[in-house]
Amino acid sequence: MEKKPNVLILGGGYGGFKVAIYLQKHLQAGRANVTLISKHDYHYQTTLLHKVAVGTYSARKARIFFRKILDSKKIDFIKDTILSIDPESKMVFGERSCYSYDYLVIALGFVPNTFGIKGVDEFCYKLETLNSAIRLRNNIETKFKDFHSDPLDLRFIVCGSGFTGIEFAAELGTQIDELCKICGIEKNLAKIICVSRGEQILPMFNVKDSNIAKDKISKLGIEFVQGDVVECKSDGVVIKNKLGELEDIKSNNVIWCAGVKGSGVISNSPHFEHKDSRILVDEFLRVPKYHNIFVVGDSAISMKRNILNAPTAQLANQMGCYVGSNLVRILNDKPLSKPFVFKHKGTVCSIGHTDGVGVVFHMSISGEIAAFLKNFIENKWIFSIGGIINVLKKGQFRFRSSN
Ligand SMILES: Cc1cc2nc3c(=O)[nH]c(=O)nc-3n(C[C@H](O)[C@H](O)[C@H](O)COP(=O)(O)OP(=O)(O)OC[C@H]3O[C@@H](n4cnc5c(N)ncnc54)[C@H](O)[C@@H]3O)c2cc1C
Repeated sequence: MEKKPNVLILGGGYGGFKVAIYLQKHLQAGRANVTLISKHDYHYQTTLLHKVAVGTYSARKARIFFRKILDSKKIDFIKDTILSIDPESKMVFGERSCYSYDYLVIALGFVPNTFGIKGVDEFCYKLETLNSAIRLRNNIETKFKDFHSDPLDLRFIVCGSGFTGIEFAAELGTQIDELCKICGIEKNLAKIICVSRGEQILPMFNVKDSNIAKDKISKLGIEFVQGDVVECKSDGVVIKNKLGELEDIKSNNVIWCAGVKGSGVISNSPHFEHKDSRILVDEFLRVPKYHNIFVVGDSAISMKRNILNAPTAQLANQMGCYVGSNLVRILNDKPLSKPFVFKHKGTVCSIGHTDGVGVVFHMSISGEIAAFLKNFIENKWIFSIGGIINVLKKGQFRFRSSN
């Protein structure tokens, strides 16, 4: 009997889960042994981690269990943490076992980039996984509930003014009054400071849209400080300000949102050409030296400038779809489809639950319409993997149920 090819998908985020769902829908059962390996039993929407961290989206809702969505007759799921990949022997090494493959999809996502700055790993909270968001949420809750007298307990420094930093700071900013009220704390005791390298926040937007966002966020009481973080400590950060002077900013809560890089698995694996732990891929999203390996999402970086894009969920999702369709073609002995082209539909940054700023189909939007579109995008993703039932259970609507 002919041996069925082994297809392994590493990572169940936007990119990897999309490949698995595509194969479940479009690959004839029995054509291949398809296995998704991820380090948790569930998929979580990374784009909602800031809400989990503030407590405005429940961690229970944020989990979508793989085994509830995947048809075990078509796709196997294994919970394991991948450590390294050897493309020469076509083997993947995990904490629990090792796995051989004929075709491999690497979709291991991102890790925060500390840029080697002292104290980041030791003292900062990060938005990396659902568990890291839950840790931050617990810290925020404890600091408010158990507030005694140290004002630094209610001071939050957010390092970074890109998407993650701004969405987190704004979400927390919209909740501060509520938290103070519940805990009987005077409003002006709580403070959020956002440290930004440049004057412009959200550098993916044009100056006008970025200023609109800055204005809205400043109205929430969030203070912007310009400078480079040079050290993080247990009681705050040291920055080099615009004048080149070192400045101490005190706080008992530092959140590191200053950039991401690819998974450490990539730098731990020999033979891959990578940049910041993101593998260089060709126009078919393959590793040039190993055409049986595809890379999607934040794990990939294109060799061709025209598809060199900022890592986003939108990009990971489109890459996942594309690689899924090419795997179906390969497994049916058909040639690959045309090279991958990213269709940028827009970007929306949420500012709390009912406000936002963005660009959709080249049109600038802000306010409730932006917030509506943001929720629509999140719900559309849930629909694409889990159908209407999951949208009703886990979706985000104008009036949210978890707060
Ligand atoms: C707070 C925040 C807000 C964001 N907002 C937006 C937004 O509004 N719009 C947007 O487009 N993008 C946004 N992004 C970026 C977006 O989330 C990422 O670009 C996207 O998640 C990348 O998808 P991915 O599939 O590559 O990785 P991920 O979605 O991160 O998935 C990686 C998967 O791999 C698993 N994994 C990791 N390491 C291992 C291992 N060693 N072994 C096994 N499994 C492993 C993880 O558990 C996870 O399931 C945001 C990011 C953050 C943090």
